[in-house]
Amino acid sequence: MRLSRYFLPVLKENPSEAQIASHRLMLRAGMIKQQQAGIYSWLPLGYKVLKRIEQIVHEEQVRAGHIPVLMPTLQPADLWQESGRYDAYGPEMLRITDRHGRDMLYGPTNEEMITDIFRAHVESYKQLPLTLYHIQWKFRDEVRPRFGVMRGREFYMKDGYNFDLTKEDALHAYNRHMVSYLRTYERMGLTAIPMRADSGPIGGDNTHEFLVLAPTGESEVFYDAQVPDLKLGDREVDYDDREAVAEICTEFTTLYARTDETHDEAVFNELPEERRKTARGIEVGQIFYFGTKYSEAMGATVKTPEGNVPVEMGSHGIGVSRLVGALIEANHDDKGIIWPEGVTPFHVGIVNLKQGDAACDSACDALYKALVQKGFDPLYDDRKERAGAKFATMDLIGLPWRITVGPRGVAANLVELTSRRTGESEEMSSEAALARIQEIYAAHL
Ligand code: ATP
Ligand code: MG
Repeated sequence: MRLSRYFLPVLKENPSEAQIASHRLMLRAGMIKQQQAGIYSWLPLGYKVLKRIEQIVHEEQVRAGHIPVLMPTLQPADLWQESGRYDAYGPEMLRITDRHGRDMLYGPTNEEMITDIFRAHVESYKQLPLTLYHIQWKFRDEVRPRFGVMRGREFYMKDGYNFDLTKEDALHAYNRHMVSYLRTYERMGLTAIPMRADSGPIGGDNTHEFLVLAPTGESEVFYDAQVPDLKLGDREVDYDDREAVAEICTEFTTLYARTDETHDEAVFNELPEERRKTARGIEVGQIFYFGTKYSEAMGATVKTPEGNVPVEMGSHGIGVSRLVGALIEANHDDKGIIWPEGVTPFHVGIVNLKQGDAACDSACDALYKALVQKGFDPLYDDRKERAGAKFATMDLIGLPWRITVGPRGVAANLVELTSRRTGESEEMSSEAALARIQEIYAAHL
């Protein structure tokens, strides 16, 4: 993309309504525009990041054997009356009436609807196990929408639902979700720690939240200092191997890590003092095993040799739009965003220091073409702007790599490759720069 033809409405001033870095930087970098409290338009740059995150979420769900579907945003009230949640949900639910006076709602989540799909089409235990998921907009009329896309009213969520015959099978589905989530966040360059969370009236150790440590997080968390060092890395995972998947979950959940809802001071204090950490965290996902709560209420049963049994279920969510904010909270400096390679909106920025100079222009054009030809998505700043302004824009929007082309270097076929994260620059031929970019992204394409 050439910046002169793109739509990147950056703001010079800090927007006064933004209290935290991610909200401020998303507005300044022209990623989003607020339309109403907690409701945003995604402008081209923000939309690209949202789609990259969505893509990673899809790939890791499919890898775990889960099947994508797409359910509507609008749901009929009757389904929620069946489960008993239509009244229980309260004012967070946006209720709508159609022209025939039928009660509808904008879905805050989809347990009822997916259970309805299941009971319509699945009859036998032989059709299990089954995990369906979708990535769809949700609406929750939050009392205090704030922090931009981090706590919106309309937000984009991946929600998956497993259907299994036995509790043991459902717990394997739970474990599969935990491991696939760990991979998902790691691919985005994020450390999200599974923490034991509160399962409410159902009870039991059957829900974990995934938290990104950040001072602006809304949750208070307590953890063992060794937990953030746990990494899945590039190990192969066979999602059908129950023991192997369970072992990974044990590895990631044995050390102390809890939100304030489940925090136990006595257990925490058994840790040596220097390992006891208290911090703030951003919830970027949650997994939940709840058994037959919805299947019993809504008659989702399967035939077995022993008769009809309600299916065992769980639901598992990832905050796709919240992740855009969480990623920025975890990756920025005073100049702007620093995208991890896995989610960056453009792989590399090209800055032409002397637009209109024949040699610089043609070197930039050649570099741009070569990058596109290798499958990259570069952003070429071809505007007639001062170098300082071009650098400031690149730093603000946070592309992890920048190639600078100037009149002095061009004569000697030299360009400058700069890392946004370290600020370090290296002079090299444009061929060498291209090779370096290929090397850097080899793990991400
Ligand atoms: P929270 O405690 O932050 O209100 P939740 O526990 O109610 O979230 P879940 O039902 O677990 O949310 O939804 C799954 C994921 O969706 C959450 O882990 C979070 O990342 C994201 N999410 C929830 N509410 C919002 C919101 N208002 N804006 C953006 N993302 C959200
Ligand atoms: Mg939650």
